[in-house]
Amino acid sequence: MSAVTRFSLQDFPGRSACILWLSGCQMRCSYCHNPELALGRGGRISVDGVLSFLERRKGQLDGVVLSGGECLLSSSVLELARAVKAMGYLLKVDTNGGYPDRLDTLLKEGLVDYVAMDFKARPGDYERVTGWGDFAKWEACYGLLQESGIDWELRTTVHSDIVDEQAVDEMMDFLESRSFGKTLYLQLFRQGKTLGNVADMRRRFELARLCLDRSYEVRFRNFTQAEVNALACGRPLEVNVTG
Ligand code: SF4
Repeated sequence: MSAVTRFSLQDFPGRSACILWLSGCQMRCSYCHNPELALGRGGRISVDGVLSFLERRKGQLDGVVLSGGECLLSSSVLELARAVKAMGYLLKVDTNGGYPDRLDTLLKEGLVDYVAMDFKARPGDYERVTGWGDFAKWEACYGLLQESGIDWELRTTVHSDIVDEQAVDEMMDFLESRSFGKTLYLQLFRQGKTLGNVADMRRRFELARLCLDRSYEVRFRNFTQAEVNALACGRPLEVNVTG
């Protein structure tokens, strides 16, 4: 484990939580804002120390978020999840959808209460965008979540030079065809230190170019209120701006 965020009201919907940042990732997204974590070069914190911290926080936090990097990269995450749940915490998992077997175990054992899964690209673009092309595993995770009965969400980072409006529209069509019934969050790329030293978008990503009349909910992060308001004028769609 690389780091702990001791308190957050923003990372587990409706809950207070701490975040455990697990290092390492099988993907190499150029826009990744956690390059040290993704490459497994973050600091090292003992699991025993984290469990002691969680013991002391009992009654003060609702839940624990496992994030990364990719928190399901190592099978040791299962023992960690069991220990966290045994203390009575709710558990949220942030995943890129690459490890259906581990997700299946978490779900079958009733260890996870909420999942936020990345949906990074059109199936044919996955390797280009993430450096990882095993989309069948992502689809397996999607199927598990659809059957799970727990609450979950999808999230997509948009960048007009990497995942543009046409790509996002086709991704949303894909979800329509798969009976997606949850919330898709479109997160606008923010310039900063990234794994691939990605430059800022050459042009602003245009929400107005998307077909947002969907059978599921679409929400927005990092866009301006004006951009979302402009949408609301033309489309009677529930939207929310966060971040
Ligand atoms: S953004 Fe990509 S490379 Fe970075 S942690 Fe997430 S999945 Fe891994």
